[in-house]
Formats: sequence, structure tokens, C-alpha cells
Amino acid sequence: MNFEYSEAQKQIASMIADFGAKNIRPKMMDWDEEQIFPVDVFKQLGELGLMGVLVPEEYGGSGLGYFEYVTIVSEIAKVCSSIGLSVAAHNSLCTGHILYFGNEEQKKKYLPKLATAEWIGAWGLTEANTGSDAGNMRCIATRDGDDWILNGTKNWITHGKSGDVAVVLARTGEPRTKSNVTAFIVEKGTPGFSAGKKENKLGMRASETTELVFDNCRISDAQRMGEVGDGFRQAMKVLDGGRISIAALSLGIAKGAYDASLKYAKDRHQFDQPISNFQAIAFKLADMSKKIDVAEMLIYQAADMKNRGVKMTKESAMAKYYASEICVEISTDAVQIHGGYGYTKDFPVEKFYRDSKLCTIGEGTSEIQKLVISRDILTQ
Ligand SMILES: Cc1cc2nc3c(=O)[nH]c(=O)nc-3n(C[C@H](O)[C@H](O)[C@H](O)COP(=O)(O)OP(=O)(O)OC[C@H]3O[C@@H](n4cnc5c(N)ncnc54)[C@H](O)[C@@H]3O)c2cc1C
Repeated sequence: MNFEYSEAQKQIASMIADFGAKNIRPKMMDWDEEQIFPVDVFKQLGELGLMGVLVPEEYGGSGLGYFEYVTIVSEIAKVCSSIGLSVAAHNSLCTGHILYFGNEEQKKKYLPKLATAEWIGAWGLTEANTGSDAGNMRCIATRDGDDWILNGTKNWITHGKSGDVAVVLARTGEPRTKSNVTAFIVEKGTPGFSAGKKENKLGMRASETTELVFDNCRISDAQRMGEVGDGFRQAMKVLDGGRISIAALSLGIAKGAYDASLKYAKDRHQFDQPISNFQAIAFKLADMSKKIDVAEMLIYQAADMKNRGVKMTKESAMAKYYASEICVEISTDAVQIHGGYGYTKDFPVEKFYRDSKLCTIGEGTSEIQKLVISRDILTQ
């Protein structure tokens, strides 16, 4: 396997670096402070082909593979992890679900709008009382003739307010029974569908996270994706790919924190010498660099399997678990290397430190990744 960036990946990285310097970096601390989700930036990212990365060209997407996708999410996260999270959620959750499980009519209707960011997508699995235990959801869909009536809430939903369309997983069978969840596409403006509370978060503050509320929300059966009862299986498949996204997001944060630390360690002088001369600092940098390389290899292993259409549940969980844990460690060490300056908003590591923690939680906590990996190993 070749670990060099391909020409396409190099071009993507350079385009994102340029775009980030002009359109993201100058404003990102204001967005972070005010919890502003910069919709205009996503429209621009759509014009650059970064909002429908994996969507085939026939549906208006860029038709790229998972290597390029990892490059895109990680290079954006190197600049601003909040934007990275939103790009990842839009591409792999809402858009990904419709791409893999929508029928032809649904794909033709929604994918071109999502791939160009004319519409922003949301994906609702989690509820207030069911996060890791997602199968035990309370949001229900009841059949009424040719329609379905949705009632309940979804929590922690990325783009819950600004999203133009949401893929929603709702219970259509008895609690704790098999095949009791179905996936639906719900458009903004549908009567009975609204956004609830917006979360005030530790990090990832420019990525909007809100509640979705369904109050006798009537949707046609044409909005159902796949078979009745197939929703949970679909969601787990979507999350297999989604875990590569969060791993890539983690990688970008780790790289951003490391790059800033390497520069700072060479520039900052104490005791009449750069602090990089102190073994305590140099060894931190060595460990950071090693962890980044290992994470990258795990991520590309999972991406390669995904590109080849091979089952990669264990590998994507391993990549997500490792990359997210090391991104927290690296951003913590990055603050330490920066000393007091690292604790201020004048240096980027403070934001990486806050943003990094989401990666060990979103799309399955580290504990759940260990569960997924161990189950896979034990059933082989
Ligand atoms: C910023 C942000 C964005 C998000 N975006 C979305 C989104 O777009 N769509 C969506 O559907 N969800 C989204 N989520 C929800 C996210 O996926 C959940 O928060 C996550 O799955 C964890 O669920 P929970 O918060 O309910 O924690 P819980 O499941 O309550 O877990 C609490 C603790 O218990 C541990 N635990 C739980 N079960 C077990 C077990 N069996 N064994 C060992 N330990 C266990 C967990 O690991 C964790 O440490 C988002 C969350 C955040 C913070």
C-alpha cells in the first residue's frame, strides 16, 4: 500500500489550505465564541465539490473515494475542527444514508441538492435517553393509510436547525424487538417538524447541535427509506463509514495541534535556548508524531477496505477509537508545550484541546468502539 498522497490528494490539500486561510481562519474564533454556524461557508465548500465527496457524478457529486474523503475532512479539521465535523456529518450521515439506502427517486431528488450544499443535511439517531443504546429509541412512526405520523424527539443533531432535510430513524415496532426501526426522509417546513433546544457546547461550537422535535408530523410513505424495520441495520452501516469520518476529523485535529506545537517549540526560548532542546519537549513531539502516523495507517486501512466494498466494521471502529483517543492526548500535550500561552485564545491549541473531546464521544464513544471491536474478534 502506498502511503504517499496522490496528486489528487495533494491538490485537494492545497485547495483547502488556501480556502481555509482566506475564508475560515480569519473568522473562526468569532464563530466559536458566538456559536455561529457559518452557512455561507458550507455553500462555498459545496461549490468546491466538498459537500458530496462520495456521491457519484451522475447525482451531482464529486465521485471520489474514501482516501480523498479522509484528506478533505482531515485538512479542513486542521484549520477548524467545527467546520470539519459539519462537513463530515453532512457527507457521511445524511447524504451517505440516502446514497446507500435511498431508492432511485429519492437519490435523484435529494443527492444533487445535498452534494452542492444547496441543502444542508442532518441525521437523527440519538435521543435524550438513548445514545449508545440507540436501538431502544422512543421516537415513533405510526402508519396511517399511505402516510406515517412521527412523534418524539431526537437530540444532539448536527444541523438540526439549519438543515434543510433530515434522515430520521424512528421506531415502527415494539420496544426491544428485532427490526423495529425504520428510516425516513423529512424536509424542513413539514408541519409538525421543528428544531428544539440548541446545545451550548465545550467545543465544536461553530458546528450546530440541536434537538429535532416531531409533533404529529405527517409524512408520506414515499419518504421511507428501504424496508419497514430495516432502519437500525442501515444506521449501523452508515456509522461504519461515519467512523472513518470521525477518525479523519481526529487526525486533522491531531495534525493541527502537532504542527502548531512543533513551530512553537522551535520559536519559544527559555533558559537561552529553544524549548525543543529540552528532552521533555522533544520526546512529547516524538510521541505525537508517532501517534499521528499510527492513526493515519489505521484510517487508510479502513478507507482502503471501504473503497473495495469489504466489510470493515472492526477496522473503522479501530481507526475511530485510536485516532480519537490520540487526538485528545496530542491536543492536551500541545497546550502543555505552549505553557500559559496555550491556555489562551491567541494560539490555536486551546481550540483544538476543546474540540478534540467530541471525537471520543460522537458516532459511538470509545467504550462502544471497544465493544464493536471485541464482538467482531470474538465472533470470528
Ligand atoms: C457535538 C455532537 C454532535 C452529535 N451529532 C449527532 C448527530 O448528528 N446525529 C445523532 O444521531 N447523534 C449525534 N450525536 C450524539 C452522539 O452520537 C452521542 O452523544 C453518543 O453516541 C453517545 O451517546 P450519549 O451521549 O447518550 O452517551 P451514553 O450512551 O449515555 O453514554 C454515557 C457513558 O456510558 C458509556 N456506556 C454506555 N453504554 C455502554 C456499554 N454498553 N458499555 C460500556 N460503556 C457504556 C459511554 O461510553 C459513555 O462513557 C452528537 C453528539 C455530540 C456531542
